[in-house]
Amino acid sequence: MKNLKIISLLLTVIVFITGCAPQTEESQLQKFIQAHVRKVKPLEKKASLAYWKAANTGNPEDYDKVSELTLKIRKVYSNPRDFAFLKDIKDSKEVKNPLLARQLLVLHNAYLANQIEPQLLKEIVDLGTEIEKNFSTFRCTIEGKKVTTNEIKEILKTETDSDKRKLAWLASKQVGPVVSDDLIRLVKLRNKAAKKLGFDNFHTFSLTTGEQDVKELDRIFNELYELTNEPFEKLKADLDKILADKYGVEVSELMPWHYHDPFFQETPLVYEVDLDKYYKDKDVKELATSFYASIGLPVESVLANSDLYEREGKNPHAFCTNIDREGDVRILCNLKNNENWMETILHELGHAVYDKYNDPNVPYLLRQPAHIFTTEAIAMFFGRLSRNPAWMQQMLPLSDQQRAEIEKVSYKYAQLKQIIFVRWDLVMYEFEKQLYANPDQDLNSLWWQMVEKYQLVKKPPDRNESDWAAKIHFTIAPCYYHNYVLGELLASQLHHHIVYNILNLESEKDVSFVNQKKTGDFLTEKIFRPGDVYHWNDMIEQAASEPLTTKYFIAQFVN
Ligand SMILES: [Zn+2]
Repeated sequence: MKNLKIISLLLTVIVFITGCAPQTEESQLQKFIQAHVRKVKPLEKKASLAYWKAANTGNPEDYDKVSELTLKIRKVYSNPRDFAFLKDIKDSKEVKNPLLARQLLVLHNAYLANQIEPQLLKEIVDLGTEIEKNFSTFRCTIEGKKVTTNEIKEILKTETDSDKRKLAWLASKQVGPVVSDDLIRLVKLRNKAAKKLGFDNFHTFSLTTGEQDVKELDRIFNELYELTNEPFEKLKADLDKILADKYGVEVSELMPWHYHDPFFQETPLVYEVDLDKYYKDKDVKELATSFYASIGLPVESVLANSDLYEREGKNPHAFCTNIDREGDVRILCNLKNNENWMETILHELGHAVYDKYNDPNVPYLLRQPAHIFTTEAIAMFFGRLSRNPAWMQQMLPLSDQQRAEIEKVSYKYAQLKQIIFVRWDLVMYEFEKQLYANPDQDLNSLWWQMVEKYQLVKKPPDRNESDWAAKIHFTIAPCYYHNYVLGELLASQLHHHIVYNILNLESEKDVSFVNQKKTGDFLTEKIFRPGDVYHWNDMIEQAASEPLTTKYFIAQFVN
């Protein structure tokens, strides 16, 4: 009682000193945000720089520094008192200023995603790390002999003997039973955490904190299923004929090991054309630099801070990082002059221009892409150009005859690649949803039901192993896979909108975007500058006149 009196006296004094009525929700929130940004901004910059260093050196101590800083940031977001404060303000519905309301939502979701209680979180992280370790130390064997993942991939790409292919495929699944019990335990732990926070399961929890909705995703994926059914069946029938011929079996005898990768997620190399020969005497960095300049999105300042070539110890892949949300954007590549790296540098620079050309006046918390899949879409939009015959003709340049040669196969290949990936992603999305809904069901059967339904690949007779668990994404990137397809959908939607409504062309047949400054202007104004100021679907609607839709992807690759 006494304490209360003192507190109320104190409050009166504070109110008196600040000379105004009790603080409104908006001003309390404003103060919270200022203090929060003061805390996280330097930490996030340090973490980005530490990650950049680690990726460049490969030193374990540098990676330890990254973990340490990541943990510090997570600690900020896991504070239950701060979360309660944000939740109260959000529930009060008193924050009317749109920019503040948006920051509140973004903050609320970031805190919510980190509200798993420390003991449970530790169990989840430890078990996840343990499974990941088992993945990386497990060695597949063929007839008792150790083989690497790359060797398995190579066999599935080139071997013509069905028995040898089968052994390689079986080897690729050996890790499944080794990790599956732990993975089911991990799923249950994640579900336990989600339920404590009031969600049905971890799948719904993780979509919600990512501003996505199961119903909406179900609608999109169902539409993709319906619209790709017939075309996929037809394309796959053609493909199966070619594969059956190649392996000297009947089409009816084709088994999962007759496709060119362990999950049939990639396009078998039967319609492939060698594009590398067009790039081998070029400089992919120069090509990317001059292309981006030609559309009014210069990237020199990005490349100046970037690290582009192979080096001992360096991360062999590629990524883009926004160091400070103040213009220091970098990409890491291991460039070679071939088509794959042409695609990759265009892709990473797509992420980079999204980050680089944001509006510096947008509040720090919103100075980021509207969603992980929207930045992926921009990267894919540009990455696709490395195989676009019109783009290649202008940039390389090519003769009409060379272009015609590429065109003969490039369309078919692109179509196959996209449809095969969509059907594979349907398996991943649907299986993962059901995995979290009920981890106690017969998952081995569920997996093959999905594969047979979506990929039209037959389950080997009597097979009852945890083949699903061999996909590492369920462990390291849960409930994420659907974003790849959403990115492709948006890339096609933007492609269509730019061709017909921004460049006002009559057909997309010859579009290369080279020298089309309007392309860069449109992307900058409608997508890069707003950052995360709007919900991703509002941003898409404002940019392209309608919310995210499957129809342009279908028009571009399916019909
Ligand atoms: Zn990307």
